[in-house]
Amino acid sequence: MGKNIAIDGPSGAGKSTLARKLAEKLDFIYVDTGALYRTVGLYIFRKGIEPTDVDAVAAVLPEIHVMIRFINGEQHVYLNGEDVSKDIRLHEVSQYASLTSAIPAVRQFLFETQRKLAAENDVIMDGRDIGTVVLPDADVKIFLTARAEVRAERRYRELLERGQQVSFEQILADVNRRDEQDMNRPVAPLKPAEDGVILDTSECSFDESLMLLYKTVKERLN
Ligand code: C5P
Repeated sequence: MGKNIAIDGPSGAGKSTLARKLAEKLDFIYVDTGALYRTVGLYIFRKGIEPTDVDAVAAVLPEIHVMIRFINGEQHVYLNGEDVSKDIRLHEVSQYASLTSAIPAVRQFLFETQRKLAAENDVIMDGRDIGTVVLPDADVKIFLTARAEVRAERRYRELLERGQQVSFEQILADVNRRDEQDMNRPVAPLKPAEDGVILDTSECSFDESLMLLYKTVKERLN
């Protein structure tokens, strides 16, 4: 059984960048579970299926094979053998991931993949329900958050750097809409675990956030 660190929180809280750095420091494997939900979202998007059509989405799940592989410490995701690590980052796919992730059959579909990775490795896993549902016995549980405006600003810069044409207003509206969807869904809603630690990084630089996270995890890991 590996050591498990769960990091949950809303989109744009810096989870993936921070968790990746922390994993390097601790020599853990970093698993970005959002990428798994994005892969399912991408398939639904490509198929032209309505992401809110529960039956239609559930019906095509058996056609989907999602696999994770680590190349030079970087996570790559494969959709039926195709490396879709870039495509899942498209702005349109975020909304598909958020909507399809509210469907219980989709969560069930990805549950085992996540559990298996955590059982076999020392992992830092980031997502929305890792500490509450997927790994309720994780050694450390963190809920990483920041104000919506701060998160939107970070997301906006990230997308601009990737060359995507977006406006800040569009990103802020998107962040708010996904928060709303992720927090209010009946299955696995986004919320801090009862025995988790809440870290708000609104006023922190990246390095400060990393130090805070590192210190918090180290104190609890042994
Ligand atoms: O983390 P990221 O923004 O890439 O995740 C995309 C979407 O996948 C989120 O908006 C959320 O709805 C969903 N998700 C989830 N549970 C997770 C990880 C992501 O529902 N563990």
